[in-house]
Amino acid sequence: MLVTGGSAAATPGTGRDAAADVSGGSAASTGTGPAPRAVSYRPPVPLAVVRRFEPPTSPYGPGHLGVDLAAAQGAPVVAAAGGRVSFAGPVAGRSLVVVVHADGIRTEYEPLRPTVRAGEEVRAGQVVGTVDGAHAGCRRSCLHWGARRGASYLDPLSLLVPLGPVRLLPWDP
Ligand SMILES: [Zn+2]
Repeated sequence: MLVTGGSAAATPGTGRDAAADVSGGSAASTGTGPAPRAVSYRPPVPLAVVRRFEPPTSPYGPGHLGVDLAAAQGAPVVAAAGGRVSFAGPVAGRSLVVVVHADGIRTEYEPLRPTVRAGEEVRAGQVVGTVDGAHAGCRRSCLHWGARRGASYLDPLSLLVPLGPVRLLPWDP
C-alpha cells in the first residue's frame, strides 16, 4: 500500500486501535520517536549537571547510573513526574527516594532526607525530600538522579524532552 498525501495521519481514531487514547493528550504527534509519552518529566532540581550518565559496559561493570546535579545541602528536590513513592529512607548507608511513574519508569533521588513516605502518591514538582549527605564522586554537594525501566538504567536527561541546552559544570580545580 502506498499512502499519498497527508490525510491518513489525521484520520480520527474511530477504530478499536485508538482505544488506549482516552486521555486526549495525543495532539502533537509530529515527531518520529517511539511510543507516545504518557509521562513528562522535569528536572528534580535546577538543571546543572556535574556528572553525566555513564552506562556500564557490562551488567555489573563500573558506570554512573544517573546524573549528578549541583544542589546545596538542604535544597528541596521535587518529583520529576507524578507517581507513587515506592521507597523512602535509608538503605545500605544511603538515603534515597524512589518514585514509580505511570509509564513504568522509576526515578531515584539521593542522598535525600525524605519528606514523603512509601506508598504516597506525589504530583510532578512536589517536594519529595531535601538534599542531605554526600554522594560518591561529587566534590560539592549534589543530587544523584537515577532512572530505570525494569532492571535497565536510563539516562535521566533522556526523559527531559525536549531538552534545552545542558550546562555541564566544570570540576573544581
Ligand atoms: Zn551520581
